Amino acid sequence: MYLEKNHLSKKIFNNKKNDLNINGAIPGMAIHYAHCCSPLPGDRIVGIVTSGKGITVHSIDCFSLEKFHDTPERWLDISWEREKDILYRGKLIAVLMNEPGSLADVTRIISSINGNISNLQVVNRDINFYKFTIDLEVENLSHLNEIMAALRLSNFVESVEREKS
Ligand SMILES: [Zn+2]
Repeated sequence: MYLEKNHLSKKIFNNKKNDLNINGAIPGMAIHYAHCCSPLPGDRIVGIVTSGKGITVHSIDCFSLEKFHDTPERWLDISWEREKDILYRGKLIAVLMNEPGSLADVTRIISSINGNISNLQVVNRDINFYKFTIDLEVENLSHLNEIMAALRLSNFVESVEREKS
């Protein structure tokens, strides 16, 4: 799906662990949504840390927060983070040297800048070069440009362009 003029199309990713990312949460900690107040994106929220269990997310005005007033060390200042739920799909055409390690170098560069390769296809191959199309999931256009700039620095990369279809 390449709907927009700039060849970036919106895609909503469902985070399997959490519905949304939470700013201020401790990485790796499980996040639960409290049933007492069932906070929704847009609500002001607070996290209550339960050791061994994770973080429970409450609305800031939830009645059940009263019982945590004596334990301020368990309160975590958190907020919804929606930006990162939206990734965009970009498509590149890359011409690589036909040498061992060239494709590995390209995938390494892309993942080092947090790009996600969703599809990779050889379009053309001759004795000197491979031509690939690379489908990528990126945060925004400047993220895609950053990836392209990094790829151009690789000795294995002859050229890289956005695909114009
Ligand atoms: Zn609550």
